[in-house]
Amino acid sequence: MEKVDYKKILENMPQAVLAVDYDNKIVYANKYFCSLFNTNCDMLSGKNLFDFLPQNSNTMTIKEYTYQITKTDDDFCSYYYLSVIDNQMEKIYSDFISTVSHELRTPLTSIRGFADTMIASYDKLDRNQIQKFLTIIKEQSNRLIKLVENLLSISKIQVQQTNLVYKSINAKSQIEQSIDIIKNQYPNRKFELKTSNNVPNILVDENKFQQIMINLLDNAAKYSYENGSVEVYISNSPTEENFVSIKVQDHGVGIEPENLACIFEKFKRIENHLTRKTQGSGLGLYIVKNLIEKMGGHICVESSTVLPNSGSTFEVLLPAASYTNQSIKALEDK
Ligand code: ADP
Repeated sequence: MEKVDYKKILENMPQAVLAVDYDNKIVYANKYFCSLFNTNCDMLSGKNLFDFLPQNSNTMTIKEYTYQITKTDDDFCSYYYLSVIDNQMEKIYSDFISTVSHELRTPLTSIRGFADTMIASYDKLDRNQIQKFLTIIKEQSNRLIKLVENLLSISKIQVQQTNLVYKSINAKSQIEQSIDIIKNQYPNRKFELKTSNNVPNILVDENKFQQIMINLLDNAAKYSYENGSVEVYISNSPTEENFVSIKVQDHGVGIEPENLACIFEKFKRIENHLTRKTQGSGLGLYIVKNLIEKMGGHICVESSTVLPNSGSTFEVLLPAASYTNQSIKALEDK
């Protein structure tokens, strides 16, 4: 039998796992546990168990899900496992069904309606009306294609099957292409791209990088007002050496502070006066975050709803291409 990599199995378990020593100091937390608390294993290391888990209960609620906590011990450590309680799985499932069925039914109804009208009244319609109906049919088909692509992306993420091909690329020219694509869909938004001097190439999968940028630019335009502007800034990260920072800033509706943590969850859409009017499945940011982390980067967001037009800034940090071959191998193994 081939050598089994137990660390990898533990790291990717569909349960949150935490290990503590006899003083209840954290010695290990897997990826799932870290994502629940929006942190990483290094930050948790040495912290006290009860800063995170309850002392007198074997369940706890994080975000909107309740977890069952079970514990096992060996000679060196105690291990805590957090699994979503079954009826919560039903909630995840019903969120999934309601989002997907809404996102499927709405464009399909519109495609069928406009096709029916064209079949029934073709002779009475003028060129402009036909052009208009066909454009709607095309836009609604694109919406369906985007939903199917997003669903395929999340199923690949869930089975850890996203194969990435790393390449050194110039972020600026890739982002210019992404802006051109989004500009077509939002002709009355202004886009501006600014780059600092001496920004190195980034080491990413080219297609996935474009998927990330299109999602962020699409959101920035979608959650902005008519004639709003979107700015993209590329620079060397001032906080993390060997990382390039890409900021996508808008001046739209913004996000309430209490909602900032959950926008990266799947199927999560936050109520605002634009979400009711705009299309979306709540999958975009979940996919974006997963892809960025798989490529060794991070994403964070600053946003405000205090002033009108204060808007949101999403910052993506990605590794500079000055990485060694060893680092590329480590990323490919992720
Ligand atoms: P979708 O846009 O399809 O709803 P996302 O996963 O891309 O899904 O975003 C999740 C939620 O985060 C959105 O429904 C919206 O409420 C919020 N959001 C994302 N980007 C922005 C932004 N630039 N400005 C304001 N809200 C945003």
